[in-house]
Amino acid sequence: MQRYIIVGNGVAGVTAAQSIVRADPALEVHIFGAEPYPYYQRPRLWEFLAGKIEQQTLYFRPLEWYAAKGIQVHLGARVAELDPAEHRLTLADGSSISYDRLLLATGGRPFVPPFAGGDKGGVFTLRTLDDAWVIKSYARDIRSAVVIGGGLLGLEMARALLALGLRERPSARARDEGAAERLDVSVLEYEPRLLPRQLDAEGAQVLQARLEAMGLHFLTDAATETILGNERVTGVRLKDGRVVNGEMVLISTGIRSQVDLAREAGLEVNRGVIVDEQLRTSVADVYAAGDVAEFEGVVYGIIPAAMEQAQVAAANMVADGSATYSGTVPATTLKIVGIDLTCLGEATATGDEFVVLRQVDPTTGVYRRLALRDGKIVGAILLGDTRNVRPLKQLIATGRDVSAYSDRLLDESLDLKALAQ
Ligand SMILES: Cc1cc2nc3c(=O)[nH]c(=O)nc-3n(C[C@H](O)[C@H](O)[C@H](O)COP(=O)(O)OP(=O)(O)OC[C@H]3O[C@@H](n4cnc5c(N)ncnc54)[C@H](O)[C@@H]3O)c2cc1C
Repeated sequence: MQRYIIVGNGVAGVTAAQSIVRADPALEVHIFGAEPYPYYQRPRLWEFLAGKIEQQTLYFRPLEWYAAKGIQVHLGARVAELDPAEHRLTLADGSSISYDRLLLATGGRPFVPPFAGGDKGGVFTLRTLDDAWVIKSYARDIRSAVVIGGGLLGLEMARALLALGLRERPSARARDEGAAERLDVSVLEYEPRLLPRQLDAEGAQVLQARLEAMGLHFLTDAATETILGNERVTGVRLKDGRVVNGEMVLISTGIRSQVDLAREAGLEVNRGVIVDEQLRTSVADVYAAGDVAEFEGVVYGIIPAAMEQAQVAAANMVADGSATYSGTVPATTLKIVGIDLTCLGEATATGDEFVVLRQVDPTTGVYRRLALRDGKIVGAILLGDTRNVRPLKQLIATGRDVSAYSDRLLDESLDLKALAQ
């Protein structure tokens, strides 16, 4: 019986495993995951952090799911070495196992710039459930927090901390007054605006105003120089001399692919493990998908790409050449209750080659922007009104020429759903 092994129990790993057993139930499929938990949803970690859901609710694929699918899952099992010539893996505990086909789905880890003082107690990143537990328990004893990085994750974490403050930390005075104590949360963004990768200046302004109304503080053009404090953090000093107080610092400044295993095994690696359109790496019988993979110079770092790549990789592992990957339209959503924001494709595109349509209503906090190139929609920002996310995603993916409608694309009366079909 052929043995297929997947390294990594994240969304790419479980999606691939599911596709492989579906394509050929006779195959022996194993997943090795370094974390001790069955597959859980990273995007919901902020809800766990905010005290809105329990750990159990995060488990999207409980252990029974693997058993029912005939997938052998090994948790708390870190793969330490890959020998592609021998088709063999060695685990951290010294045991080893051979494979016929292998998928690397080792994901990413937070990137932390080398700030002075970054090793102090109270400085954290959020990627795993274990990270969330540590942050949650530390946050119980503090009154202020700083989030470095005003991207999607940074904003979601900041909002979660605010909610955590409200729910779980009622002070004596606040209890007396029937209110809960708030954590004071500041977000530092290096660029002049929030979500610099997803929003243009106008959209960022609308968003910032809405988040400020929720109680968050923002500093833009904020380049962190030093994390202050002795053993425990007390704040952050910026390069321009500003000081922001905070008894906890959460760093959210991007991710790096987990490529160590691949690099040490001699696979071609750049930012991620380089894959072709069949998701094959540079060595035979080894594929890669998800945050660890780099396709045409891009590490996507988002779930839709991880799932699409995993499906294509799985199909080719079972029948080489049976599926092709041609990239994913970037689609990101800010998951903050009360704020609907979705950014699609080349959301912030500007320049002579683009036609840009905008609609802004600061009173309702609605901002919509479309970018067109050669009569085709290539990017969209939908803030405060995400009704047309699906048709716009379709129009971007299919590259349909909409030049005949270009002056009406943001009109309520135009049926984008019909146009996308
Ligand atoms: C808090 C948070 C919120 C997010 N929200 C969104 C969102 O709303 N939308 C979105 O599209 N994306 C979101 N993302 C990004 C998304 O989670 C990632 O794109 C996705 O998890 C990538 O899946 P993956 O399977 O490639 O990697 P991962 O989910 O990182 O899983 C990889 C797994 O492999 C394991 N592993 C690594 N090395 C080894 C080894 N040597 N041996 C065994 N196991 C190993 C790791 O421990 C990990 O469990 C969010 C991320 C975070 C952290």
